[in-house]
Amino acid sequence: MNYNKKTVLDVDVKGKKVLLRCDFNVPMSKDGSCAITDDKRIVAALPTIRYLLENGAAVIACSHLGKPVPSFDKFVKKGLEKGKALEKLTESAWKKSLAELSLKPVAERLSQLLGQDVIMAADVVGEDAQTKAAALQPGQIMLLENTRYENGETKNDPDFVKSMAALADLYVSDAFGAVHRAHASTCGVADLLPAVSGFLIQKELEIIGGALAAPKRPLVAILGGSKVSSKIGVINNLLELADTIIIGGGMAYTFSAAQGGKVGDSLLESDWMEYSREMMAKAEAKGVKLLLPVDTVIADKFAPDANSRIVAAGEIPDGWQGLDIGPKTVELYCSAVADAGTVIWNGPMGVFEFPAFAKGTEAVAEALSKTDAITIIGGGDSAAAVQQLGYADRMTHISTGGGASLEFMEGKELPGVSCLLDK
Ligand code: AMP
Repeated sequence: MNYNKKTVLDVDVKGKKVLLRCDFNVPMSKDGSCAITDDKRIVAALPTIRYLLENGAAVIACSHLGKPVPSFDKFVKKGLEKGKALEKLTESAWKKSLAELSLKPVAERLSQLLGQDVIMAADVVGEDAQTKAAALQPGQIMLLENTRYENGETKNDPDFVKSMAALADLYVSDAFGAVHRAHASTCGVADLLPAVSGFLIQKELEIIGGALAAPKRPLVAILGGSKVSSKIGVINNLLELADTIIIGGGMAYTFSAAQGGKVGDSLLESDWMEYSREMMAKAEAKGVKLLLPVDTVIADKFAPDANSRIVAAGEIPDGWQGLDIGPKTVELYCSAVADAGTVIWNGPMGVFEFPAFAKGTEAVAEALSKTDAITIIGGGDSAAAVQQLGYADRMTHISTGGGASLEFMEGKELPGVSCLLDK
């Protein structure tokens, strides 16, 4: 994949109507108030928005938010599948579910952050959006409603794409969190409008793309999280690129079992044991160091207040489960990080949601904060851990896209990037 894409700096935006795809898929409180609980994604979009407004563009921002069900029929079908009672699946319940995923709170927050009015459209490509887009002046910004209110968004429907593209003269994508999806607003419109990236995508491409294509060595990849099965693509691709791969989290037990270790009641994907053995063999053949836990913190139940103790890896008694890497493993992993040129981290080392089993994840985050290496945090849980611990500003880069950064590291083509103009 070519990462060398044109950016807003390579085109003339003055006097243009710019359709700007942002990632405003922000977390909101579930108490019905729809209050934004974390505005990081809105803040991250500000540099591109400000640049466009200051350089004479009229900005038509758009984004998806959550997973609204765009038609009443589907709402009923999905509700029934989830075991909900038919009498509760009314049209007004459907409309309420849509209203809860309106981008209006985002427009309000964006307006506060920008210090200027953000005009909110009542629809995505309907009459209101069209009228407001037509009247929009350079230096003004409007926000379309949730793109997933439209059936055509996730289907990349040609008619919907046409209606979206008709609102603007230029398409700018800055929604890195959504570039792994081939939807109308993330890539379809790029067929009809000149398409370039904003600063956020450019930074992600430069840093993650750079680390994968020409890393400062040694390149150390730390992979954790629950399952081997969700990280197969990443392990496979990184075995071609990295000098060291460190495995932690729940998936380490499948590797341990594959080596003949006793894993007790730990998370185990027995269908993936053979694959794990193949990966270990591949690493050896390629001269890639594959580091696995040497000890583990075990618990007598999956709970924050479980009894716990430390045992050697592969020696977990029945009735116990591994919930974190042990202190010797922490030492081993942290010293690999200290000597690294580049570190890529994706996935926690244990059940970090329980403070008693967060030590491994915290120690890795701390080691990353101290190393001189280029440090790249691949979104999701690892990003949250680094932020919670206050190490965010000591990392080279924290990706804004969990799924997108994972697919990037898998070496997969990202449709929302491929569709942009090459430099
Ligand atoms: P993933 O979504 O695959 O990146 O996995 C993240 C989740 O893995 C977190 O919610 C962790 O609690 C969980 N996890 C990490 N280590 C373990 C473990 N040893 N046993 C069970 N779950 C784990």
